[in-house]
Amino acid sequence: RAKADGRNRARHYDAAMDEERRQRRWLAHELCDAVTRGELHLAFQPIADCATRRIIGQEALARWTHPVLGAVSPDVFIAIAEEDGLIAEIGQHLLVEALTVARQWPIEWMLAINLSPVQLRDPALAARMLAAIEALGFAPCRLEVEVTEGVLIDERDTAMANLRALRAAGVRIVMDDFGTGYSSLSSLQQFPFDKIKIDRSFIAGMNEEGPALSIVRASVGLGRSLNIPVVAEGVESEQQYAVLQALGCEQIQGYLIGRPATFQAKAA
Ligand code: C2E
Ligand code: MG
Ligand code: MG
Ligand code: MG
Repeated sequence: RAKADGRNRARHYDAAMDEERRQRRWLAHELCDAVTRGELHLAFQPIADCATRRIIGQEALARWTHPVLGAVSPDVFIAIAEEDGLIAEIGQHLLVEALTVARQWPIEWMLAINLSPVQLRDPALAARMLAAIEALGFAPCRLEVEVTEGVLIDERDTAMANLRALRAAGVRIVMDDFGTGYSSLSSLQQFPFDKIKIDRSFIAGMNEEGPALSIVRASVGLGRSLNIPVVAEGVESEQQYAVLQALGCEQIQGYLIGRPATFQAKAA
């Protein structure tokens, strides 16, 4: 009887796996058409100067609204795009859209975009991006590229070459989700990042007793001694804001300042 139960469970498990694989194949197929069907777009979330709360730029965040499924998380569809070799096309499409929107912003605002480790492994990435930036007449010094420390793990030489080429053109390179990886400090030693973005889990953790506040304080101090600005992501409350301001954090981003929105935020 126990054996029969086990077999049933195994069969059930196999069926669930099959279903998951089928769903994923279907999603990949749908994603293939998403660009031409105009289902992919960007949301923009403001980044503000901490001392004055004035908006200094916006981060572009990818959105996919599927006609049947509705909103699919970027964490899901970026991964699918990477596995199915669609990421180069989608990434370039989103970059052009982001630049086109950002061209209409106040001249002092910067645009931040995200690049995944897989994107950085493409030897042609930086040249392709810089060509679009030039073609659209966008000043490279207004662009920030957010990467996680994962970019420096596999095929490190290609990733570094891309980051160096972007940086040489004036693009700033930001370490995103700082503190969550296996070797955040080590990556700061491997590449001259221009800014540190503290992961939102530490900002959320400041509400409770525990080490989060110390970690945020140390991260702000780290930025200061490296002579690069620090931005806190996921700032949701006035209380968190007050703490960050007292610590001397340079920039903030989060629902307190603005949620990602598909329309353009007005200048503050
Ligand atoms: P990320 O770059 O760390 O983006 C921050 C995420 O935190 C976004 O989720 C944003 O909506 C969310 N967020 C912002 N403020 C708050 C807040 O105050 N509270 C809370 N709880 N959450 C907040 P989203 O848009 O789902 O993006 C998830 C991740 O997907 C991004 O993390 C980024 O790594 C990736 N991603 C998004 N767009 C792109 C893209 O165009 N290309 C690539 N390669 N990756 C992208
Ligand atoms: Mg980001
Ligand atoms: Mg982040
Ligand atoms: Mg993230």
